[in-house]
Order: sequence, then structure tokens, then C-alpha cells
Amino acid sequence: PVDRSPEIQEARLKLPVLAEEQVIMEAVRENPCVVICGETGSGKTTQVPQFLYEAGYASGSGIIGITEPRRVAAVSMSHRVAKEMNLSTRVVSYQIRYEGNVTDETKIKFMTDGVLLKEIQKDFLLQRYSVIIIDEAHERSVYTDILIGLLSRIVPLRNKKGMPMKLLVMSATLRVEDFTDNQKLFRTPPPVIKVDARQFPVTIHFNKRTPLEDYTGEAFHKTCKIHRMLPPGGILVFLTGQAEVHSLCRRLRKAFPFRKGNTTTGESEIYLCVQSLPRIDLDNYSALPVDEGDEDREAGIGDEDDEGSDLDIGDDPGDAEEKADPSIPLYVLPLYSLLAPEQQAKVFRPSPPGTRLCVVATNVAETSLTIPGIKYVVDCGRVKKRFYDRVTGVSSFKVTWTSQASANQRAGRAGRTEPGHCYRLYSSAVFGDFSLFSEAEITRRPVEDLVLQMKDLNIDKVVNFPFPTPPSAEALVAAEQLLVSLGALKEPPRTGRVKEMEQARLSCPITPLGRAMASFPVAPRYAKMLALGKQQDCLPYVISVVAAMTVREIFVDLDRPAGSEDESSKLTQRRARLTQMRRLWAGQGASLLLGDLMVMLGAVGACEFAGCTPKFCEENGLRYKAMVEIRRLRGQLTNAVNAVCPEVGAFVDPKMAPPTEHQVVCLRQIVLAGLGDHLARRVQAEDILDPKWKNGYKTPLMDDPVFIHPTSALFKTLPEFVVYQEIMETTKMYMRGVSAVEAE
Ligand code: ADP
Ligand code: MG
Repeated sequence: PVDRSPEIQEARLKLPVLAEEQVIMEAVRENPCVVICGETGSGKTTQVPQFLYEAGYASGSGIIGITEPRRVAAVSMSHRVAKEMNLSTRVVSYQIRYEGNVTDETKIKFMTDGVLLKEIQKDFLLQRYSVIIIDEAHERSVYTDILIGLLSRIVPLRNKKGMPMKLLVMSATLRVEDFTDNQKLFRTPPPVIKVDARQFPVTIHFNKRTPLEDYTGEAFHKTCKIHRMLPPGGILVFLTGQAEVHSLCRRLRKAFPFRKGNTTTGESEIYLCVQSLPRIDLDNYSALPVDEGDEDREAGIGDEDDEGSDLDIGDDPGDAEEKADPSIPLYVLPLYSLLAPEQQAKVFRPSPPGTRLCVVATNVAETSLTIPGIKYVVDCGRVKKRFYDRVTGVSSFKVTWTSQASANQRAGRAGRTEPGHCYRLYSSAVFGDFSLFSEAEITRRPVEDLVLQMKDLNIDKVVNFPFPTPPSAEALVAAEQLLVSLGALKEPPRTGRVKEMEQARLSCPITPLGRAMASFPVAPRYAKMLALGKQQDCLPYVISVVAAMTVREIFVDLDRPAGSEDESSKLTQRRARLTQMRRLWAGQGASLLLGDLMVMLGAVGACEFAGCTPKFCEENGLRYKAMVEIRRLRGQLTNAVNAVCPEVGAFVDPKMAPPTEHQVVCLRQIVLAGLGDHLARRVQAEDILDPKWKNGYKTPLMDDPVFIHPTSALFKTLPEFVVYQEIMETTKMYMRGVSAVEAE
């Protein structure tokens, strides 16, 4: 029996999913797998685990597990459900990559999908669980797809062994054919239960013009107009990234500030918390593509042009907007994946009396979190995604148009509590050119990490795996080749008929080295380095370098234009300081050749030595959040290495001395072993076909040269041979994480 508070009980009764409790529970009783579709906010994530709990699915030895593609959702939903059920977080808990509050008493466990995949490696039958819920399946994150594939096999196996288990797949869209009409996945299609959400009509207003560049500015003007001219109701603005979110928040706060006395109560507290938000935040949150993931959603609302209605406020920028108007305060809150949970929780609380709520968000507000009281949505129509070149692996972050399904999903956020309005900062013609849905993530990125994980699960023929959407054959071949070259998979025999050789090339079994690598929670190239790290006492250095390479963007980006005069002189100072620090971290003599990796190692060492404080990071141009994450990852990698070879007895030394010359030589070999396929050679004088190619490097797979970035430790040295961490296309093709290789 669950003892809920009357307020919670009342709020629950309003959720559409509650009306379907009987239907859902009956379907779960009668079927091993069930799919539940319901609009965002219908109560799936918070209520379905409670239904299962009350029906006794956690009363025996098994517990209820729920996976989320985003860390934000795993943490905040576990807290919410604990609160609704009046249970401690010892019972309703979460586990994400670096942290969690799971105990022996845990009955309901929220986790990221990556966490569950790791658990399957330890116990293929997932015996701890009586039910697994795969939430947000419409997002089609890589791990979600793989988990559904694996669970389609695990569930029947459990039932055959007399240890029954249930699978629920929950989606915010009705587009679930990839799961249901997929004979390879489920021979009997699972029943689909539709939760009818109370969705009020949302009027769509398209811009006549489509700003190609300054959509943040356009969002600012639109939001100001809504706030000045339209009746009460929360505003939700969709932008593409954290930097944009902060910049718009700043502008809006400036335009409609809180002053002491211009709200009725609680203003000083709010004033303080607004003030304490970081003023300049150059975090590149986009470094975490999964968290900022894409979308794949169902259209469901009208999208008529209705220019000329009262609420169509036009797209001309207003005049007096930049002048501060404290008489109509706007309660502006940012929302993105990496925002601290306390800050995120603010969007669920009522805005202070006399103010209007305005949440400036990335994709995360599209389906993962439901913000109450939103009446107006401002949609920039774009999304930031990481793209990979299929052949060369070159990656880049690009802001692109979103899909129609996603734009409709965003618009739908305006109609949860009453009829709403969505202002699209693009024309209906542009909308018509959007793709209908976004592609599943698995078709858009390299898959070597997944292939290694699957081989570790003894799935040798990855091609035959029941993927909801299979990755391309090219991507699978490339992954097997890389893993063979790293020694993680056994080389296929070179004899036999062509067809057999082809087959063998795609079903190489895992080696003992591969198993060790699979146990490290990092990409295979880095896992290889860890596996080699115990030589010459190099392990602590390898762990630090791998952690720094895995957590991207450890340095604050000082290349962005400064906002004002005084900021710019400060910036010049900071740049000088950072250049000096980088030079110091790069070391001397032999260690210089380790290049950018030595700088990372030096930065991690120095930061840890100083106690990893925000102050140290701020002063030395390091991104604090990245350094904290590196610290956690170092701990985690150290444990993982000790688990594989306990005799090395690795530990995290906060006072790690710089590597000796001998260790640097060793480190360079280890780095080369991991990044061997990322080798580049300086373009020879006779091959310079274009003056722009000077100082360029040639890689095996690309015709055009790639370059060392001016901020790299090796920019001036320009060694003959280098290995690089990755190639990013920005203004040029730049190698990142460059280290020199001896020409022998
Ligand atoms: P779905 O998963 O179907 O999108 P949810 O279960 O996430 O729906 O949300 C159901 C309701 O619970 C929404 O109205 C949402 O606003 C509310 N809710 C979710 N989390 C919180 C929270 N932390 N505080 C207050 N309300 C919340
Ligand atoms: Mg949900």
C-alpha cells in the first residue's frame, strides 16, 4: 500500500495515464512485452512505475528498472516518484554513470540506458529485475535501440527458465512500427496501448521571414513581444545549446529585471538566485551529443498559417525592447541537460507572484521534462547535432533544421493546461521542407563501441542482431576492422572462399584483450591504452589522459568575441594566462612531444593538486564541470582497471608527480597503440598543390589535408608524424589532441 499525500493524489488523478491503469496492468499481466504511447506530460514516466509497484512487481526478489536516455531525467524522475509515493530515495533510487543512491532496499530504480547495458554484461538474464521499462523510446538513442534488441531475447529466455520478466516500452509518439512491426525483434507483435492525452489546441504562428543567422535575437524579440502584449501564461523558448540559452536568459533578464519591490513576495531570494547564476558560461555543452540528442516524434496538432489573428504578433523587431522595464518582471530560467539539478528543479516550482515564467531550453524540454503552465512556445526550429563522416570519421557539430515531428512536439508543450500558441521563427515553406522524422541515432555515428560491447555479450554475428533500425553495413565493417586492428577481436582467416571470408570478416570473436577493453567505460581506442597502461608504472598517467580525452572540452573557449569593452581586456589577460599555463603543462624536453595530451595531463595533475576548485579552474581557463567529471572518471577507470588486474593496485593520487622521461616515451607508445589508425604525416614540400596546404597533414583516408590548431602545443613544432584524437571540422579541418610520433 502506498501512502500518498492528498495533494499528490489529486494531481495524479488529473493525469491521463491514470485512466488507463487497468488496461495497462492487464496487458502487462497477459503479455511479456507491452508498448505504451502517450503525449509528453501524460504521466508515463512518473506513474507507470507506481502501477507496477502497486501491482506487486517489486514485492518479491525482483525490482522495477526504468531506463532514460538522459541523465537529467533519471535523476529528477527518481526524486519525483519517491516524493509522490512518500518513499525514501533508498527505495526509489537512481543510477547514472558516475553516481547513484541505490541501496539494498531499492525497489524502483531509474537509470540511464548505458547503465543497464553494463548490467546486462554482468548478468545477461538481469535476474535482479522483474520488470524493465524502456522510457523515451521515441528518442531512438543508440543504447535504447540496443537494449530493446537485447531484451527481445532476454524476456523469452527468462520466461522459459521460469523466472518471468516483463518489458514495457514507452514512447511519446505513436511512431513505434520499428519496434512492433519488426519480425526479427518480436515474432508476436506486442500490444500497443495508447494513452489519450488531454491536449488543448495550439495555434501555430509562422514567421513570414526566416532569419538565417540571428535566431537567438529573433527569439529575444518574439519573447519580449509576447511578454508585453499577450495575456498571462508561461513562455518556453527552444534554442539549440547552452551558450545560446545563457545569452538569451541574460538579455531577457536585462529587459525585464526584478527590482526590490516590483514583485509582491520573495523577491530578494529570487533576485539572489538570479544573480548567482553564472554570468559568463562558455561551457560547450554540445560536447555531450547524447544528452542533447535528437528527436523522432509524431505530429499531432494543426499547423495552419494564421497570419493576422490577434495573437499573431508579427515578426518585426520592436523598438523599445532593449530598454529595461522592471514594471513587468519576467522570471527567466535556463534549462539544459548539464544544468545542476537544483537549478533544473526550479522550473517545476511556481514562478513568484506577479511574474511570468519564461524557460529558455534546449531539446531537453521537448519530451523528457514537462514544464507546467506553459502557454506560449517560441521555437527556433533548429537543433544542434554531432555529425560524423562515414568514411573518415571526421566529426562536427552542426546546427540544422529539426524535423516536422520534433517541431510539432515542441509546439505541443504549449497546450498542456489550456489552449496555447506556438511561434515558429521560420516560415511555413521552410517547415514544409523539414524532414518528417529524424533518423535513429545508430545510423548516424560510428559503432565500434557498440560492436565491442556486443561481442563481449558473445554476439559474434552483430549483423544478425535484431536492431530496431540496423546501422549501415559500412559502419559495421569499419567497426570490426578497427577492433581487429586494436587486438580486441580475433583476426579472420585469410583463406577460403571469398564469400566465407566476407562472412568471417563480420563475425570475428572477441579476444581476452577485447574482454578487458569492454569492461572499461570508454571508447575502444582509449580502452586499448588502458589495457597497456600497467607497463612502466604508467597507469595513473594513462588513466588521466584517457579521462581527459573522454570528457571533451576541458579548456574554456577563449576565442569567442567578448560582450563588452571591459570583458575584452579581461579576456586578453585571461588568454595570456592560459597560453602561459598551457606552455607550463606541456612540460619540457621529451614530454613536449606528447603534445596536447601532455597539456591535458598537466592540467589534470595541477587541478587535482589544487583540490579541483572552481577558483583554480576559473583562473586557469579550465572548465570546472569538465574537471569534476574527469575526477569522477579517473576514479571509475581506476576501479575498472583494478577489477581486471588486481595485482596492479592502481589508485588515484591527488599529488601525482609529472611522468619521468622514460615514462613519457612509454606513454607515447601507448598512445600510438590506441590511436594508430589516426596517423597523419606532414604534407611534403613537393606535394603542396595549393598554398593553403602549407603546414597541412595528410591522412590515409582524406584527399585534402588536415591541420594542427593554433592552440595546440604542437602548432609551432609541426612534427613529421602525429597521431590525433579526432578531426573536427570547424573553420578548417583541425586535428584535436595531437601527439608526435617518432619517424623510424
Ligand atoms: P510523461 O512521462 O508522460 O511525459 P511525466 O510522468 O513525466 O509524463 O509527467 C507527469 C506530470 O508530472 C507532468 O504534469 C509534470 O509536470 C509532473 N512532474 C514531473 N516531474 C515533476 C516534478 N519534479 N515536480 C512537479 N511536477 C512534476
Ligand atoms: Mg516521460
